[in-house]
Amino acid sequence: MALEEKREKRPPVTPMMIEEEAALRNGSRGLPPGPWAEAAGPRPRTTERHIAVHKRLVLGFAVSILALLAVTMVAVLLSVRFEECGAAADGPPRVGGNGSLPGGARPPPRAGQSPGRPEPEEQARGGEATAAAAAEEEEEEEEEEEWQRRRLLPPWARPRLPRHLRPLHYNLMLSAFMENFTFCGEVNVQLEVRNASRYIVLHAHRMHIEAVRVAEDKLAGAVRVARSFLYPQTQVLVVVLNRSLEVQRSYNLKIIYNALIENELLGFFRSSYVLHGERRFLGVTQFSPTHARKAFPCFDEPIYKATFKISIRHQATYISLSNMPVETSVFEEDGWVTDHFSQTPLMSTYYLAWAVCNFTYRETVTKSGVVVRLYARPDAIRRGSGDYALNITRRLIEFYEDYFKVPYSLPKLDLLAVPKHPYAAMENWGLSVFVEQRILLDPSISSISYLLDVTMVIVHELCHQWFGDLVTPVWWEDVWLKEGFAHYFEFVGTDYLYPGWNMEKQRFLTDVLHEVMLLDGLASSHPVSQEVQQATDIDRVFDWIAYKKGAALIRMLANFMGHSVFQMGLQALKRVGKSVNIQEVMDQWTLQMGYPVITILGNETTENVIVISQERFVYDSDAKTKDPDFGDNSYLWQIPLTIAVGNTSHISSEAIIWVSNKSEHHRIPALEEASWLLGNINQTGYFRVNYDVRNWRLLINQLTRNHEVISVSNRAGLIDDAFNLARAGYLPQNIPLEIIRYLSEEKDFLPWHAASRALYPLDKLLDRTESYSIFNEYILRQVASMYLKLGWPTNNLNKSLVQASYQHEELRREVIMLACSFGNKHCHQQAATLISDWISSNRNRIPLNVRDIVYCTGVSLMDEDVWEFIWMKFHSTIAVSEKKILLEALTCSDDRNLLNRLLNLSLNSEVVLDQDAIDVIIHVARNPHGRDLAWKFFREKWKILNARYGEALFMNSKLISGVTEFLNTEEELRELKNFIKSYEEGSAASFSRAVETVEANVRWQRLYKEELFQWLRKSLTH
Ligand SMILES: [Zn+2]
Repeated sequence: MALEEKREKRPPVTPMMIEEEAALRNGSRGLPPGPWAEAAGPRPRTTERHIAVHKRLVLGFAVSILALLAVTMVAVLLSVRFEECGAAADGPPRVGGNGSLPGGARPPPRAGQSPGRPEPEEQARGGEATAAAAAEEEEEEEEEEEWQRRRLLPPWARPRLPRHLRPLHYNLMLSAFMENFTFCGEVNVQLEVRNASRYIVLHAHRMHIEAVRVAEDKLAGAVRVARSFLYPQTQVLVVVLNRSLEVQRSYNLKIIYNALIENELLGFFRSSYVLHGERRFLGVTQFSPTHARKAFPCFDEPIYKATFKISIRHQATYISLSNMPVETSVFEEDGWVTDHFSQTPLMSTYYLAWAVCNFTYRETVTKSGVVVRLYARPDAIRRGSGDYALNITRRLIEFYEDYFKVPYSLPKLDLLAVPKHPYAAMENWGLSVFVEQRILLDPSISSISYLLDVTMVIVHELCHQWFGDLVTPVWWEDVWLKEGFAHYFEFVGTDYLYPGWNMEKQRFLTDVLHEVMLLDGLASSHPVSQEVQQATDIDRVFDWIAYKKGAALIRMLANFMGHSVFQMGLQALKRVGKSVNIQEVMDQWTLQMGYPVITILGNETTENVIVISQERFVYDSDAKTKDPDFGDNSYLWQIPLTIAVGNTSHISSEAIIWVSNKSEHHRIPALEEASWLLGNINQTGYFRVNYDVRNWRLLINQLTRNHEVISVSNRAGLIDDAFNLARAGYLPQNIPLEIIRYLSEEKDFLPWHAASRALYPLDKLLDRTESYSIFNEYILRQVASMYLKLGWPTNNLNKSLVQASYQHEELRREVIMLACSFGNKHCHQQAATLISDWISSNRNRIPLNVRDIVYCTGVSLMDEDVWEFIWMKFHSTIAVSEKKILLEALTCSDDRNLLNRLLNLSLNSEVVLDQDAIDVIIHVARNPHGRDLAWKFFREKWKILNARYGEALFMNSKLISGVTEFLNTEEELRELKNFIKSYEEGSAASFSRAVETVEANVRWQRLYKEELFQWLRKSLTH
């Protein structure tokens, strides 16, 4: 999303493209001063952009469409010869073996060799090249010294590209050699010069550069390249010219290069699948955020939007795909074919994409004529596993076209289902890539929750086709806006598809709000808008804080502005009510980390007056915040607190109070003796609310007597707030446990779901303690009557996934899950019977919606044969949804040998897909019998794991937090700290979060565990 900064104080809203220009001129904040960075100053960080989202979106769209028209009218075809890259040769090029290494460019490792990290340079150099390279290195050093004398960093050593050049158009021609996993390319970049300079600096990483030429456009006069070299520290290619490029002229930069189609997860990488007993390979790209530079030399920052014309040459047994449709295909006699794709509209490098595979597809067409195809393994297409996704995609395009009032801007949209991918999906414009588990769905064997996962990922990626691709953030600190928006839309869009599910009003709370408040309650959290400079830092911004807090803030804004105003984006409302400045309000939420807890206290001396105070919520009050700008005391938010007064049978309509001081007095009319107060109505606000114990008691009474006076979302909110306030020590430990007593009468899914989620971390704090059985017993009592009432699903659930039954089926599932995991005898028997029936009859009659619970319970209770049976089924099943839950069930065993065996097998990519291995390790860590095994395994294999996932930071931090979050003894804390001392590399933020979490766990054990058990003992004897 290109909703970036204002440069003056609250200027009127301006179209996005104009701002982009401004940003290009001014650079972004934090660039070192000097001729290269022009007038880069700290950028004012304002938040009007958030309010202006829709208006700017619409204006941005208009400008983009004009640009698109203009671009298509100007057919800029550069005369380039394709033959220069590999095509003239008989076979694939010998990568890096020709001894000509211009400018010390380092060749990639040889084909077939394990990819991993680049080798040390010396090793990779040919002997002949060494002398020339040494000479050039000398030159390079001299040049660097010269920059040092001038007390400046050379342009290639700076974290951001210098701003004197701008790419207008790329012509990229690739040849993909799938037999040895190499590719070669020739890129021609048309450059516009903004300031005279002798240097061209653009991104290029892990490739071998064969040739670099610069020609002046039109006159075709070549500019001599003095030398060129790769500078791996900043992942750039530097071209030094004999003379300066002249301002306002345009030039053509031609680069010929080759590289590997690596066996990893980023850049242009390969993966495989088995079809008819034969392993087949495919190549696909993942460029976001900073990996396009591994596939072709380019200006790999989102602000450099350009047009792209791509051609891909491959064996005719494969097909190729890219963002745009194929314009022409040229077949050669030798069984090769070149696909020429249409030119793209203006776009950033990070959502460019291509693939070379032998997939098949099914297609559909929207009302407005967009051709949507789903490409997947031929067997999956034949089984119809892509049909669900294809069908909802067509409907969603129509939904978004209507919502945004802007047509989908490309002629086609392909959805590509790949076996291996670092993320659930990536929104490449016109070619969105999904991991199979998030797009393929076999209705006859998928649960509702699986269907929901698939649906929401598709809704998310489609939202990005507008919000992200058409309008794009200028720099990565604003990622939270595009991701938060798309994440919020997962719920809005799913409500469009399934109107009865009420996702935005209900499920959003448990899945987004409650979830992210867990993370953001750590002192080591970070603001949703984060500064990033180094390329290696950029992955850091793609975390749950950005996605979920972003979504929660957008929802809070939509609620206090009013949904209709929000949707129409009529104007950038400066003020809501009399004295609230939205810009200031949102600044506090996006630039400060964490969130407040509001405490509402009745005033003993003055009637009808309450005292409202705010402070930053943190789980561990001993933990020191890492942000030196803010001491905990200086945190202050302007909080739109909605509040209502209730008594036994009635609740007042809500009033809004803007709380902006540490502590304020407010008058509440009609506050009677037995009335209770309820804050944050429907939990639209991103904060927690605490009350005096008297008010908590009144609320608990209300829930017990007639819970329906309080809305479903507030019932869920009270549960989540109470558990977390108690965990952080703001509230006595018994309050949350007393609240959930009313659940025996609760027929709505959401409060159960909130309770189940809130109980989970508490359970993990206690599951290895001596008195655990008391806690267990208490929870079982609360669950028992609802479990009896609801019973088990009787058949293989409605094949059509009837909408109306969704809430009911999800509630039943939740209750069965609680019953089975806390050891309800009937639940255990039922699970064991179902498993035995499956084994003896070899027919799986287990209801779809509870299969994961049954498998897991079966594996944990029954003997090794069941484990072996599930393991065998994991291998033989084709359906991806089933594979995933079978694999996870294997982690439920209490046999430590089996758990160890599984951990060791998880690193074998042929058995367990790279992205699934992380889930195996995390799930073993959740099992009290396996926690120490997973922790030990993690430490022993850290080097391997870090090499595999380190670069995809998102996965690495998921692994780190998943393995450590439930460690809770002093001993484990010591082990963690010692481990970090010896190994921390690049994942510093994840590790400091882990230490804080474990410290908070240990602290809770020390301070509150006994209090909780004492209350439980007393309560159970009554
Ligand atoms: Zn996204």
